[in-house]
Parts: sequence; structure tokens; C-alpha cells
Amino acid sequence: MYHVRRVHIGKTAQLDELAHECGILYSKTLVFFWRTVRHKGLWLKPKHLMRLFTSKKLHAHTADACVQSFFASLKSWRERRATDPTAHPPRRRKWYFRIEYKRSAMALTDGMLRLSNGRGNEPLVLNWPWELPVTVVIHWTGTQYEAIATYEQQRAYGPFPVGKVAGIDLGEVHMAVSHDGERTYILNGRLLRSKRQYQNKLKARLQARIDVKNKGSRRRKQLTAAKSRQLRKLTNQIKDIEHKQTTRLITTLHEQGVQTVVIGTNNQKIHQWSHGSIRFKLTYKAERLGMDVALQDEHYTSRTCSACGYVRSKVKGRMFRCPQCGWTYHRDGVGAMNIRQKYRGELGSRHVVGAMAPPTSLRYYPQSGVARTLGRENVCVGNCAEAAPL
Ligand SMILES: [Zn+2]
Repeated sequence: MYHVRRVHIGKTAQLDELAHECGILYSKTLVFFWRTVRHKGLWLKPKHLMRLFTSKKLHAHTADACVQSFFASLKSWRERRATDPTAHPPRRRKWYFRIEYKRSAMALTDGMLRLSNGRGNEPLVLNWPWELPVTVVIHWTGTQYEAIATYEQQRAYGPFPVGKVAGIDLGEVHMAVSHDGERTYILNGRLLRSKRQYQNKLKARLQARIDVKNKGSRRRKQLTAAKSRQLRKLTNQIKDIEHKQTTRLITTLHEQGVQTVVIGTNNQKIHQWSHGSIRFKLTYKAERLGMDVALQDEHYTSRTCSACGYVRSKVKGRMFRCPQCGWTYHRDGVGAMNIRQKYRGELGSRHVVGAMAPPTSLRYYPQSGVARTLGRENVCVGNCAEAAPL
């Protein structure tokens, strides 16, 4: 799955200080954990202590890694002790501890790997004529520090099928955005969103009228029937929009020669419309046309620059603007572009994406047949006027 690169990086005052700071966090975690076991009989979880123990001198994810390390050795002890009576739990405090950087704290420019230590702190900069790794762990070898960089093995799932790959981002403002390496298409979500909001409002209003009637009364039964009748109409409209829009995107991608559709997933996100049903429709419609469908975890895909791989801490506004290289593109298009790159194992590396066509909006026509020809495309200008957030 992974391969690693080991690099000796000598010994500096900065490395000593960072390693000591990690040692402090690790020791605090260890002491607090065992004290809670002793006094309260409670075995705390990593999430409790990650919130408690942070550091002003480290990147937040580096600090989390120190806490997680303690729990990792705790877990390995609990697994080992059944068979190994000499195994002992992690119990020693550490003056120095290994420093772990996650992808979110890295940027690679001109052969220099910049490892962030949080806002306002001097980053750790390493000479790095290689690609951007997934994690970097720095530890003491006895004579000097060593950086161990982990790389995800490129494409563990076999060779790419021939043909184009399109990434699809299911968004909050847009229903879906796709990118196939050349073109970006947007399914506008405004109409669907307003229908769903009206559906919720209507549901609440009709239910309030029902609730004041006596249980079992004739009037109550009449109102209940009226409620489901009125809601059914809206439900059908919503279904219709979802069907027409998803079909339109898939037929468009098919015409463009796309062979593989990669849909971004993130279980933590809660959206107004059901991503499940949109994803399901996109999936079976693509498979019906003989395309392959893959799911791709979309972590970091909205915050990473598609051109240089720089990871932003936060993205504001409808446009993505990279502070590192200045590359600018429509935010939802960036998500789809990066889902595609991530699937291809290229996320975070450099890409030439200079002259990218602006996104094309695929509009909803209420009276149209299911699949209509292209040609009535509306170009979504930079600020995407027709997709203004509510
Ligand atoms: Zn950039």
C-alpha cells in the first residue's frame, strides 16, 4: 500500500525544540490518561485528549499526532498482553518525541518542502527534490534526525481503463459539478433547493393543522389525506428535477468520451438534499451507458490548489485563489478537478492547468424531454450569478 523514503537531516536547535514540544504533549497525555484511570476508573478516548492538549508551537495536526501515538501504543499493548506476559503499557514520559506532519501541513515549492508549525511559527524547511509525501515523521536515530516520508502507492486498484476520467463533486450550492480534464460542467442546485425548502415548510404547516384535531376524528383523517396529496405533488417535482439533471450530466459526459466517473464522498457532510439519491442516480445512469463508476474520499479536495498542490486552511467565497501560485478558478470546479486528481493518485503534485475553460452550466428545462442535445449551454461567468448562495 505504502512506500517510504528516509532522509537524514542532521541536528538543529529548531528540530530539538520541536521534538521537545512533542515530548511535552506526549507526556501530558500519558500522565493525564493514567491519572484518570487511577482516580476515576475511566479510560479516556483520543478525541477527549486531542481537544485538551494542544500546543502553540506546533501545527494542530502535529499536536494531534502526539496524542494519537500514545493511544496507538496503548492499543498494541492491549493486543499483545493476552499472549505476552512481559508486555507492559506505555508508562514512561519522554523528553523528546517524534514529530509527525500530515499532508495538511505541507507545501512543496521549487524543491523545498515546507512543513508548517502553525500560524505565526517558523516552518521547518527541508531540501526536497522529490514528490510531495502523505506524511512526514521526524525521529532521532541516535546521531541525528531522520525524516521518514510516506507515499501512497500509486493506484492500488489496477490499471486505468482506457478513456477519460471525470471527477464529480456533489456540492452545497450546486447539485453536482464535474471535471474531465478539459471541461467543467455545473448542475445548478437552486431550483431543487427552493423546492426542498418549500416542502419542509408545507409539511410543518399542514402538520400543525392536523395536530390540533382530536385523534380519530373525521376532520383529522381528511386533513391527513390532504397533506399527503399536496406533498406528493412536490415530491414528484423534486424527483423529476433530480432525474433530468443527473441524466443531463451523464449524457454530456458520455458524449465527451468519459469512460470512468469518480464521485466524491464525505460521510460527515450534511446537506439539504440527499446526496445518496443523487449519487445513486448518477451511478446507475453512468453504468447503463457502459461507464465505470468509482467512489473517492474527498478529503482536502476543496482546499488543495489543483495547479501547485498547496493546501489552504480555509476557502472563502465562490472563487478559489491560491496564495502560493496565484491560480484562480471557480470553487466547485476545483473540487471536481481534485477528486479526479486524487483518484489518479496525482493530488498535491504539480499540474499545468493554465488556460482552463470556464465552467459550463447545464440548465434545467421543466418541459424538456429527458436527454436533450447540447448547444443550449449557458456559460457560468466567474461569480456564477445564477448560483448565488441563499
Ligand atoms: Zn497554487
